[in-house]
Amino acid sequence: MSRFKLVFEKIKNKYDCIVVGAGPAGLTAALYLARFNIDTVIVSKDIGGKMAIAPLVDDYPGIADVPGAKLAELFTTHVKKHGVPMIVGEAVIKVKREGDMWCIETEGGRKLCAYAIILAIGVEKRRLSVPGEDKFIGRGVSYCAVCDGMFFKDKVVAVVGGGDSAFSSALHLSTIARKVYLIHRRETFKAMPHYIEKAKKNPKIEIITNTVITEILGDKKVSKVKVKNMVTNEEKILNVDGVFIEIGSEPPIKFLKSIGLELDENGYIAVNPDMSTNLPGIFACGDIAGGRCRYRFEQIITAAAEGAIAAKSAYEYIIRVKIK
Ligand code: NAP
Repeated sequence: MSRFKLVFEKIKNKYDCIVVGAGPAGLTAALYLARFNIDTVIVSKDIGGKMAIAPLVDDYPGIADVPGAKLAELFTTHVKKHGVPMIVGEAVIKVKREGDMWCIETEGGRKLCAYAIILAIGVEKRRLSVPGEDKFIGRGVSYCAVCDGMFFKDKVVAVVGGGDSAFSSALHLSTIARKVYLIHRRETFKAMPHYIEKAKKNPKIEIITNTVITEILGDKKVSKVKVKNMVTNEEKILNVDGVFIEIGSEPPIKFLKSIGLELDENGYIAVNPDMSTNLPGIFACGDIAGGRCRYRFEQIITAAAEGAIAAKSAYEYIIRVKIK
């Protein structure tokens, strides 16, 4: 079960559309569906998805420097204004066809059906897969700087990764911790130049390139990491109190395959330009969507735009199916 409190609203068994996921894609889809007068429910394990754990968002037009959690709240309030019910705190574990409807089952045993489903479930954080990682989750190993950063006040932490998530986490942690190592396996970074420049100028952040963590060590809590330079093969120990793993994300392939969805070579749902999938009535948007027709650019604004397109396509599909 997720750490989110289960929100009970007046929930029926049947809707026109079920939106699974409440990140920027799912919330925008629900907003547009409500405006198309489509009877919609949102089912999600959390609210805001990755947006809610972004330390600071400065690339959503019109709202400069807004904490991700605040932006998620603004999205949610807007959806609620249109009266869309939400079940929050329960992941969807099954999606299957029943007659002319798609039905979902949640981990709490709830069953709901609808003519169309919009999957906006996002992706799962990638694990580093080194010794000590599993042992110290919640005891120094974290995947969320915004959620856990406050436990490292005046301490020393390491952030692993070279993308926007690693850099934004390192910058956020530098406002709390005494020192932040940013450890990346290459010389160059995927992150935006804006983040890289800010981190390089930050006296609390030490960037270590061409280096991987080979082991996370400690007794009851993390106290050290063993690192290896990939160029020189030199190994050394860094004393740290925490390790933040920010090395990207992966789609839940097993779950997607269980529905019968066509996936791309990386396991994302293959979508058409209108966000439809190989299964009539199932649409996908946001980070979980992939395929040759989708240009990957995982941003809040692109997720929201795809949510709007998915809603329009689902609306047209539902109208066709209902008047048959
Ligand atoms: P990402 O862009 O995929 O970057 C993942 C990083 O982790 C890469 O530098 C990668 O190294 C490294 N990595 C992957 N597997 C690793 C492993 N096993 N061991 C060590 N390092 C590993 O993921 P992300 O940073 O989470 O970002 C995901 C998407 O969200 C991106 O499109 C990003 O732009 C977006 N995002 C945007 C913002 C924003 O402020 N606008 C903030 C966060 C995320 P390599 O470089 O060697 O592949």
